[in-house]
Amino acid sequence: MELAKRLDRLPPYLFVEINRRIAELKARGEDIISFAMGDPDLATPPHIIERICQAARDPANHRYPETAGLPELRKSIAEWYEMRFGVNLDPDREVLPLIGSKEGIGHIALCFIEPGDIVLVPDPSYPPYSLGTILAGGEPYFMPLKEENDFLPDFEAIPAEVADKAKLMWLNYPNNPTGTIADLGFFEEAVRFAQQHTLAICHDAPYTEVAYDGYKPPSFMQTPGAKKIGVEFHSLSKTHHMTGWRVGMLVGNADMINALFKVKSNLDSGIPRAIQFAAVEALRGSQEHIAERNSVFQRRRDKLVKVLNEIGLKSRIPKATFYIWAKIPPEYTSIDFARKLLDEARIAVTPGIGYGKEGDGYIRFSLTVSDERLEQGISRLLSWHARNCHCAER
Ligand SMILES: *Cc1c(COP(=O)(O)O)cnc(C)c1O
Repeated sequence: MELAKRLDRLPPYLFVEINRRIAELKARGEDIISFAMGDPDLATPPHIIERICQAARDPANHRYPETAGLPELRKSIAEWYEMRFGVNLDPDREVLPLIGSKEGIGHIALCFIEPGDIVLVPDPSYPPYSLGTILAGGEPYFMPLKEENDFLPDFEAIPAEVADKAKLMWLNYPNNPTGTIADLGFFEEAVRFAQQHTLAICHDAPYTEVAYDGYKPPSFMQTPGAKKIGVEFHSLSKTHHMTGWRVGMLVGNADMINALFKVKSNLDSGIPRAIQFAAVEALRGSQEHIAERNSVFQRRRDKLVKVLNEIGLKSRIPKATFYIWAKIPPEYTSIDFARKLLDEARIAVTPGIGYGKEGDGYIRFSLTVSDERLEQGISRLLSWHARNCHCAER
């Protein structure tokens, strides 16, 4: 059997050893508290589940759905964008439902990328931006997100010949893994840069509804000119605790949306219909669970950030997302440090290198652990720190 060479171009999976270690410890009956998963621990709200159950009983919903989704779903997505961001979308031309946004993020590379084409990708970032590029035969060009630039890319630092050659740029705010945000001024700068170099922009925005301290993250689509050159990926996964149901969406530029529709209509048959009805319910029904969830995560955030800073893992207080991006002592790689926390404190975190080279000085904590496990995790961290101080400065 001979496999395609594109598979060899995928980077090696870095967490093999650390995952083996977790499995080994668990098999021995050790209790591991995992801060590694970016998956809300809270249940999907009952009114949404109720709608799935109801729709599942209707035989009309047992048949093939369609790639374009139910008109009602596209309409409710457009209504939600209008209500939440004041962004006007044509539900038939500027909205495309996705089977979770991840598949769309991966597939959109097929619409743009010829072998050798360049895609501008933040480093660190959610891996599908670069992996989709690589699978389509393209070359990611990494834009470092530096703490001193508030984890925003520095467009000026991108060589003009690279920017001119690039076809696409990925951005993601509120940001996974750094927890940082961008304002409309930054998005305007991005649109100017894209116009200058005839680039398309894909903005990935699954965390606009996971925010704290009264902050309301903007949509990239609010930016003047954004719809001419770009699209935004969104998702019900994080907003409504629906990761397992797989509902995402692409909105914005009609040509880009039509291109992705072309690819997808040849590969998939859309979101199961019962789940599409539940998605309509999520978008149009009560939104109360969002504020409740955010206050739960905000409380967890405040507890964890305080302790991390006390034990020398310098962390900023994120205004959005459920991630804490913690700086590790410079003498460790992120994998070594994650391994140390696992072995010495029975705490699992994500090593920053998993999101790119620039992530290697950091580890990521996710707030998606129950309050009880969070308390246990915090006491483990404190006693681990008391046993042997790992602060670089001491
Ligand atoms: C969780 C996440 C997604 C994907 O969500 P889906 O469940 O596939 O809709 C996309 N981008 C980022 C940055 C994420 O963290």
